[in-house]
Amino acid sequence: MKEYTMTKIVATLGPATNSKEMIRKLYKAGVTMFRINSSHGTEEFHKTNLNYIREIEKEEKTLIPVLLDLQGPKIRMGEIGDPIEIKKGQILKFRHQTGITGDILPVDYKGMADDVTPGEKIMIDDGKLQLEVKKVEDRVIFAEVLTDGLLKQRKGINIPGSQGSLEVLTERDLKFVKFAAENDIDYVGLSFVREAEDVVKLRGLLEGYGKGNIKIISKIEKPQAVANIDSIIDVSDGIMVARGDLGIEISTEKVPIVQKTIIRKSNVKKKVVIVATQMLESMIENPIPTRAETSDVANAILDGADATMLSGETAAGAYPIEAVKMMKKVADEVQNSPFLRRNKFQRKMIEEEKDIQAMAIGMSIADMTKKMNVKAIVAITKTGFTAKFLSEGRLSAPIFACCPDKTLCRTNKLYRGVIPVPVKINGNLDNKTLKNIDKMLKEELGLNDGDTVIFSGSIPEIHEGGTNFIKIHKVGSIK
Ligand code: PGA
Ligand code: MN
Repeated sequence: MKEYTMTKIVATLGPATNSKEMIRKLYKAGVTMFRINSSHGTEEFHKTNLNYIREIEKEEKTLIPVLLDLQGPKIRMGEIGDPIEIKKGQILKFRHQTGITGDILPVDYKGMADDVTPGEKIMIDDGKLQLEVKKVEDRVIFAEVLTDGLLKQRKGINIPGSQGSLEVLTERDLKFVKFAAENDIDYVGLSFVREAEDVVKLRGLLEGYGKGNIKIISKIEKPQAVANIDSIIDVSDGIMVARGDLGIEISTEKVPIVQKTIIRKSNVKKKVVIVATQMLESMIENPIPTRAETSDVANAILDGADATMLSGETAAGAYPIEAVKMMKKVADEVQNSPFLRRNKFQRKMIEEEKDIQAMAIGMSIADMTKKMNVKAIVAITKTGFTAKFLSEGRLSAPIFACCPDKTLCRTNKLYRGVIPVPVKINGNLDNKTLKNIDKMLKEELGLNDGDTVIFSGSIPEIHEGGTNFIKIHKVGSIK
């Protein structure tokens, strides 16, 4: 049987990887989903990369989901030319304007003067620079520098804890929502979500374009989102623990426990969850990561993440392919360790399912997988529920998900341990269908005749309800 990596890998495209050749290399190294970052570049530019991905998908006879990440209300420094050295104790002045005028520095958001209050902190460049607001006069913000450093243009600005007057969907984001609807995008990432209503709004826009099937990943990167996490998970299709901005907004020492909490809550609600940012950060410059970084990837998987993400490592690093390979190797080590399945919590994900019929079927599958040397689970899934439900059980066998259409298959591919194939299954599992599936199991997973697989999922013709059947099958037994 082929070794199949259960944890999914998301890679961000950027200057280091913006070519068909590099995208193919990343895919072959183990990338499941590509992230297109709308913070930089034009729609035409992203369209080119998207076309490359869709071409590669056809050429490699596979499915590659794509996440279009919306920038959201990120405030940035304006153009200041060369970096400016700043010193502790110095007072800096900021205003919404283009370029420097006198001693006033530019920011790109006119509402910033309304969003700050004296005593509040301003963090620039991922928190590398810290300032404290002193006063606001004639829309000029006066802030004291708390640490020496270099102020660079276009760097991100965070006002931790501030509610922020900027809409979650900016004008730029609205253009990219339209882009997602008009192009073949599977997931849209919503940055700086504050409450469930933000997600509902994006969903409404997508539905307005007739694209209710595009899935939404809410990026948790503000304290308000952490506070509203339950209702946000309810209305989202997936969650990203966006540790970059989150680390600045709630402070970095709080990130590990918040990460664990968000992952658990997402697992319980059967929503796909991605852990992102700085996972193998030092590989931007070095061919091997630090031990702390490989531990971070392993621990995110043990926490229950479906997917781990690479940002700067693949977008702008010197070793993008090596970073993907390293992430995959770490994931394989975790998979082969007993720690993952010793976790009783994961079994509880099945045990506590409210749909009693699905729960009973899931429990049986978990037992059978353990006791009968089950090589794979075949889930017949029309909504993706059976695939995601069984995926939460972190069983030792991969889940081969037969989905009615390519779009659903692509999104299901992000679920841990799920290998989707677009085959429509109508009515009973007749011999022709079973033979077909056997063929795919042999080709995709390298299964052999005589291997045991379990079929489950939903066939409305058999019984009422969602997950409604279970069947033991031996590969190659149908002549
Ligand atoms: P970003 O989001 O890379 O789009 O900022 C991820 C994060 O903040 O961690
Ligand atoms: Mn972010």
